[in-house]
Amino acid sequence: MSGFDWDLGQENSNLAWYRKYRPRNLDDYAGESVCQKVRAVMRPENRSHLPHFWFIYGTHGCGKTTLARILAKYYLCQNPDENGEPCGRCEACRQIEESLISEGKDKDVEGVKEVNASEENGKEGLLKAFSDASQVTFSKYNILILDEIQKASEAAQQALLKPLEDIGDNFVVIMATTEPAKVLATIRSRAQITLQIGRHKPEDIVKRLAIACEDEHLSFDKAALESIALREKGVFRESFNRLENIVMTLPKGQTKITKALVDESYNQLPDDFFVTFLKNVRLCNLGALVLMQSEIITDGYTPLDFVSALSGFFAEGLECVYGKMSAGKKTKEFMMTLSDTQALMVIQTLGECRERLKNAGKYDEGLSILEIAAMLYSKVFAESQTTVPAASAQVNPVAQAKAGTTQLEDGEEEFRQKLLSQGKGDITEDTPDEEDTF
Ligand SMILES: [Zn+2]
Repeated sequence: MSGFDWDLGQENSNLAWYRKYRPRNLDDYAGESVCQKVRAVMRPENRSHLPHFWFIYGTHGCGKTTLARILAKYYLCQNPDENGEPCGRCEACRQIEESLISEGKDKDVEGVKEVNASEENGKEGLLKAFSDASQVTFSKYNILILDEIQKASEAAQQALLKPLEDIGDNFVVIMATTEPAKVLATIRSRAQITLQIGRHKPEDIVKRLAIACEDEHLSFDKAALESIALREKGVFRESFNRLENIVMTLPKGQTKITKALVDESYNQLPDDFFVTFLKNVRLCNLGALVLMQSEIITDGYTPLDFVSALSGFFAEGLECVYGKMSAGKKTKEFMMTLSDTQALMVIQTLGECRERLKNAGKYDEGLSILEIAAMLYSKVFAESQTTVPAASAQVNPVAQAKAGTTQLEDGEEEFRQKLLSQGKGDITEDTPDEEDTF
């Protein structure tokens, strides 16, 4: 069961997916602590003294406005259940869902007015919106959703202080902003409920992407959806835009979202390539690295592209070892051979490389791929090779437990042998991973 209770009629077929699959009720809204807070505030015994001023803040695309609209349902539902949850079926609920949440129709909703302060940011306009929204209508409450309130001029924000103080009994103001610091402290302090909306957990985004795929009759590799959620850093809108974009460019006849398609969409080299690259760095396999460098350049990647992609791959790999993400076998195996210290040094070194490349200006003034490899080797692997006993002791315990081994992959002697025989030029190619198919 998907847990989604809307009916997606024909009229929704042209909607962008992030709208079509936008959460319509609190259960669909990922963000447990926020859901708990809202439910506690809106429970039936509080009905006689519900808050009149909400202040919601959080990063772009994390669902502040959607939450404001879901809140409006709590106030306006004509038939809430015994826990105070909106029914989702009455005229008010349906209007909010259809006209506001999925924005499929261009019509007003009785009792709800939305004003975006990036369009209406002057004192007069906002005061008028405020007074219009508070006029008596036939609905139980009048809700004013003031989005991007940080865009309102200081004079306009000042002017709102008085009306906010005198909010009428059946008038509710919900303000949303990405930059609370740009909203007058005197406004913020008047809010009865302040909610901070964080980014969604990648696994919550994956769940929702999976539901969309099923709904669109597409199959998928779980790793593909996880990769989207991670790369879009838990931002709902961007994740859905990416998925929709991939689907739109699917080759004819293909109905499966694979990790390879996702990588391609991000202009990303395959994971196995990065594993091989890092293994070659560790083994100081110079000949192989030279060949890989020319492959990277021939494929059209700049050193900065490469470092960014490698950082992305590495971050995903860590999520696979410590987080809840799944990964290709080769990636996981490789990640588990690194000690915590080594992993942190990889992150730091890639960050330094990125910084240098960004500051370099011209393409050829930055680092070459081989110089990046050299930095990684000297900062991450050379160090640990000379202190093998200490490094062995540092092998991360989770990795040990999972891998059932307490040894680093390559010992000191093996490393010396490699140094002696380096330059053979053979790329340590691995067979492709088996993908998790769902
Ligand atoms: Zn209802």
